[in-house]
Amino acid sequence: MDLHTLSLARAARMLDEKKISSTELTRAYLDRIKTHDSTLNSFITADADAALAQAAAADDQIASNNHTPFTGIPMALKDLLCTQGMRTTCGSKILDNFVPRYDATVVEKLRQSHGVIIGKTNMDEFAMGSSTENSAYFPTRNPWHVDYVPGGSSGGSAAAVAAQFCSAALGSDTGGSIRQPASHCGVVGLKPTYGRVSRYGLVSYASSLDQIGPITRTVEDAALMMNLIAGHDPKDSTSAPEPVPDFTSGLTAFDKNGLKGMTVGIPKEYLDMPGIDPDVRAVFDNVRTLMESLGATIQSVSLPHTDYVVAAYYIIAPCEASSNLARFDGVKYGFRARDTADLLDMYKQTKSTGFGPEVQRRIIIGTYALSAGYYDAYYGKASQVRALIMADFAKAFETCDILLSPVAPTPAFRIKEKIDDPLTMYLTDIFTLSANMAAVPGISVPAGFSAAGLPIGIQMMAGRFDELSLIRAGYGVEKSMNLEPRFPDIPDM
Ligand code: GLN
Repeated sequence: MDLHTLSLARAARMLDEKKISSTELTRAYLDRIKTHDSTLNSFITADADAALAQAAAADDQIASNNHTPFTGIPMALKDLLCTQGMRTTCGSKILDNFVPRYDATVVEKLRQSHGVIIGKTNMDEFAMGSSTENSAYFPTRNPWHVDYVPGGSSGGSAAAVAAQFCSAALGSDTGGSIRQPASHCGVVGLKPTYGRVSRYGLVSYASSLDQIGPITRTVEDAALMMNLIAGHDPKDSTSAPEPVPDFTSGLTAFDKNGLKGMTVGIPKEYLDMPGIDPDVRAVFDNVRTLMESLGATIQSVSLPHTDYVVAAYYIIAPCEASSNLARFDGVKYGFRARDTADLLDMYKQTKSTGFGPEVQRRIIIGTYALSAGYYDAYYGKASQVRALIMADFAKAFETCDILLSPVAPTPAFRIKEKIDDPLTMYLTDIFTLSANMAAVPGISVPAGFSAAGLPIGIQMMAGRFDELSLIRAGYGVEKSMNLEPRFPDIPDM
């Protein structure tokens, strides 16, 4: 059997039944990484020896029947999750030599379960981007077609799951960075409600928008991963003291009742949007019909402030980033420019050589928009717009359980196609930014392929803390789509 083809849920079952060992499973993934990752470049750091040592420890736990569904499961982590003793670069030269002294809370949970960390994945520098081309190291390639981007900023995590380099991965999503690469790589990506998962040990980009979430092969695996990572954490004051359900109950809910009793809202402003690719539109129409046939009621809803989402996000996120990234000054962390004239020159040289162009652009925009005299006109205004967007969503969820939309206006684009045109790149985020602005959960589930053979996902959003509805509906779509089980064929380069 090809162990690398197993979903997390199946691998966990086989480990539990002692039909396979974590060492065998981890070896299978390490072999694939060795053969194919020189083509895809999905990992910044992969430590095979450390992974095998963790797998051996997991096998001991399983032998003594002291295990959970995550024991011995090889997982990849976006390289902005702090891992004690393991380099954490954030895709940036400024953190090239940064080795955290502590684990992020989600990493600690993984370690407590004796999960296996197979490596740290590539990303747009400090999670700023939609293609993984803003990594200071290398671009990651899409496993379905190596001339295309995997999406971003968690492109390394999505490519690694799609290429079967790990059972599952964690990413982060500030404006779509889990959902959009999941869509482009044909895997499942779930952004939880803001506050559902602790952000402790996640290197911050825009703190009021950032959330950690799973990237997996199946919706069931996403539900399992939520069981691992969700919950209040005293170390993150923004994590919510909300009761945590068993997320797999969303699967059972679908098996019992289909989508009966569920109201699915179609935001009318989304469908009038110019520039939606016909293949994306066809996938969307198909899923809408499918959900109706599964018992859901379809309703048109309005999100009247949709036109302002991109502009407001691209003020708020850079403002928060300019403040968060001030700490990288060459004194406390990572890279420091040498041979500088004085302290001020050291700061200047460190930041202008340590940060890449997109990060510098956002720090400059954010600093400008927060400065005296401009604050009210930019940050203040954008915050007011954000409140209106939140109100749009709250109103929509008074009558709907789920909002259905595309994830991105087009399938994955070609490497280099948009990199010199930041505004065009920003506009591709139109469907994903709102869930972060409104602090609601969202999921991307594979739902079809373009004529060129690139995967296309469908997005669903739900009310705050209602991930169960996303899991139920996402699982329903996944189960009923009858998409041929296809895996990408990765060429040698
Ligand atoms: N593409 C968006 C940005 O560049 C979102 C990134 C993210 O979710 N981290 O900011």
